[in-house]
Amino acid sequence: MPALFLDRDGTINVDTSYPSDPADIVLRPEMLPVIRTANLVGLPAIIVSNQSGIARGYFGWSEFAAVNGRLLELLEAEKCQLDLVLACAYHSSGTGILAAGDHPMRKPNPGMLLHARDLLGLDMGRSIIVGDKADDMEAGRRAGLRDGWHVGSKFNRKSGDVAFVEHKLITGNDHRRLCDLIAGLGRA
Ligand SMILES: [Mg+2]
Repeated sequence: MPALFLDRDGTINVDTSYPSDPADIVLRPEMLPVIRTANLVGLPAIIVSNQSGIARGYFGWSEFAAVNGRLLELLEAEKCQLDLVLACAYHSSGTGILAAGDHPMRKPNPGMLLHARDLLGLDMGRSIIVGDKADDMEAGRRAGLRDGWHVGSKFNRKSGDVAFVEHKLITGNDHRRLCDLIAGLGRA
């Protein structure tokens, strides 16, 4: 089955820059119908999140878990469920074992997406990713996904890969098109 991959900060919740306090988490309402549609049609909704704040020593895994728990709780209240949450703490500016440049798990590398594929047996060629950064789109392209949906105004369609189509995700119409696509993937 295909999946809906989602970046977290700046996509599902407002990006407050290395969020480490659950009280700071505010949902972006535009994404709720998207997640709900995936839930309705049985498409796994999967977070793939770079969390270099851990490598940089800004916060630890327990703060990450608290923030993420709050996010899931807020989503639950909106009847939105996530099936899997993957996060990557590695970064070249980190210390100790997390000091790793260009780690295969860190977006734009596809490691988290491929790990989810292996865990859930996903059809990557029919899966899509939603994110607010070029690195999210690039991770999707490298993982062999079919579509990337880029939140906000930084959309630039520079991928030379014909198999991967990048869409902008700004207006209400864009969000409706994304929901229609997800509904179609679930029915297929
Ligand atoms: Mg983001």
